[in-house]
Amino acid sequence: MHGTNPIREPVQGDGLTLDVQSIFSTLQGEGIYSGWPAIFIRLGGCNLACTFCDTEFESFKSTPLTDILNSVKKLSLNNDGKRIRNLVVITGGEPLRQPIEKLCAALLVKEFTVQIETNGTLYRELPEGVDIICSPKNNGAGYFPVRGDLLPRVNAFKFIISAGNDDYKNIADVGQGSAIPVYVQPMDEGNAHKNAANLKLTTNIANDNGYRLSLQIHKIAGLE
Ligand code: SF4
Repeated sequence: MHGTNPIREPVQGDGLTLDVQSIFSTLQGEGIYSGWPAIFIRLGGCNLACTFCDTEFESFKSTPLTDILNSVKKLSLNNDGKRIRNLVVITGGEPLRQPIEKLCAALLVKEFTVQIETNGTLYRELPEGVDIICSPKNNGAGYFPVRGDLLPRVNAFKFIISAGNDDYKNIADVGQGSAIPVYVQPMDEGNAHKNAANLKLTTNIANDNGYRLSLQIHKIAGLE
């Protein structure tokens, strides 16, 4: 959306309908489940508007939870009806903007591994067993603080790195301490020259600090 999206506030509700941008199967390209066959549930709307954001999440539709679960079930199966995708990634936009507790619980009951990708500024009491990946964002004056109630639930941090953007040249202490794994990932700026510089800087930061390099392998593979 490149910072053009409206800022959307968190919504309350019973979680029986959610604003869904898209549901699709792919390989998870980033972070702790990189390479896993996955089903992505991309939810609509975000409470931030980052200028580098290249994701469309504003043409969403209100979708019943039952329809979401049916879509996930279909996408989890191969042509022989065998379940081959066991990871569901709930992303956005900002997934914690919406009441996703029931969605997470229903997926866990069906024995999916459930991963949330959040910017760390919102909180919901999600069921135990949900993996939370926090990718902090910068407002120009520094990183938005990660919520104190979210922090103990974070399984990994993912920092985006850009050599040409002062806000994303370095990572900051947002409470990750030494116990939570930190991934660093080059920003995709849609420009080969900039992306090469971003990869070089990201690799250096990983090597110098003991962080883990995350590449968007779904893009390398030409997947959504
Ligand atoms: S928080 Fe994430 S989804 Fe929201 S605008 Fe920033 S990069 Fe895009």
